[in-house]
Amino acid sequence: MRNLEQIKRLSTPSYYYDIELLDETLHALHKEADAYGYHVHYAVKANANPVLLKRISRQGLGADCVSGNEIKRALECGFPADSIVYAGVGKSDAEIELALEQDIFCFNCESLPEIQVIDEIAGRMGKKAKIALRINPNVDAHTHHYITTGIEENKFGIYLYDLEHVVQETLQRSHIQLTGLHFHIGSQITDMSVFRGLCIRANEIQANLKEHGLILPHINFGGGLGINYQEPDRQPIADFKAYFATFARFFEPMPHQQVHFELGRSVVAQCGNLIAKVLYVKEGKNRRFVILDAGMNDLLRPALYQAFHQMENLTSNLPEAKYDIVGPICESADCFGKDIALNATQRGDLIAIRSCGAYGETMASRYNLRDLPHCAYSE
Ligand SMILES: *Cc1c(COP(=O)(O)O)cnc(C)c1O
Repeated sequence: MRNLEQIKRLSTPSYYYDIELLDETLHALHKEADAYGYHVHYAVKANANPVLLKRISRQGLGADCVSGNEIKRALECGFPADSIVYAGVGKSDAEIELALEQDIFCFNCESLPEIQVIDEIAGRMGKKAKIALRINPNVDAHTHHYITTGIEENKFGIYLYDLEHVVQETLQRSHIQLTGLHFHIGSQITDMSVFRGLCIRANEIQANLKEHGLILPHINFGGGLGINYQEPDRQPIADFKAYFATFARFFEPMPHQQVHFELGRSVVAQCGNLIAKVLYVKEGKNRRFVILDAGMNDLLRPALYQAFHQMENLTSNLPEAKYDIVGPICESADCFGKDIALNATQRGDLIAIRSCGAYGETMASRYNLRDLPHCAYSE
């Protein structure tokens, strides 16, 4: 890891962000998306830290929000309102009002009851709401079942068998303007054939709508591009090239149709690391525990999705040994990894948990009444 001297001075536990790597990632993302004229919205829920958000908005990305507070945060951090898309199966009336007041680019709508409520509220406010239909395309992302969103057993989106009915109903609403289609099938997807499948399904859906005389100005493929959790130093930047090339090759846009994406994890995951201090090394039965001062309240992903994060001891050069690496929380799920090889570890050593920039800090809680983790940035 870069900046080791700075890292050794941090209070722990601390999220440490490599801003240089974030900038390099944004540069690569821009280059690959611009090649096809694609529009990219950053998915704020991956990491809503204002320092990162300001950096990202300054690069000209739009924002993808899933709550009213995310819309507020995005605006505060410099994202223009007309670059904001807003998704979520459960938008409250107050959140809808906020989004309408701000004239955001688009609501990504997930059900007919939601569209009816947006229509009513927009009518009351004298507004016309721009919406896209979030379609559940029944394409399996082949990722962890907790982060699969595009198959019919999930709560997300409008199911294909319902689409025609929803389109007809939507077109009759006088305070709604249907401007696009939206998809988001899951997260941490590294197999490009999954996105090829999504393109082919989108082509079929668009051809079908066209037969009914409906051609929409924009289409949004959501996010989902995965990163290399196994070897972050070998692949610090996600494969944006292969991702966008897949859409360029297999998706057939309608004439003049804008193509949008909502990337979260692939933008911020690799620039963040959680730095923790070893409190104790405890001998168990046939195993040895490294007990950190960071727990599942600081980084929930391993407990929530059995997620793997690379870990390394930043302060030991001793021969490697195997450890179970755990936190201090009173839950057996508070475990970052079992049988992990680390340089021989002792009290006071610093451990880096790698690739924590996405869905790390944003999911931190005060469970056990612990303090929230610190944050620091490369100098
Ligand atoms: C979470 C989410 C994203 C971002 O997904 P990543 O896998 O982090 O790229 C994009 N769009 C929607 C609607 C989401 O809910």
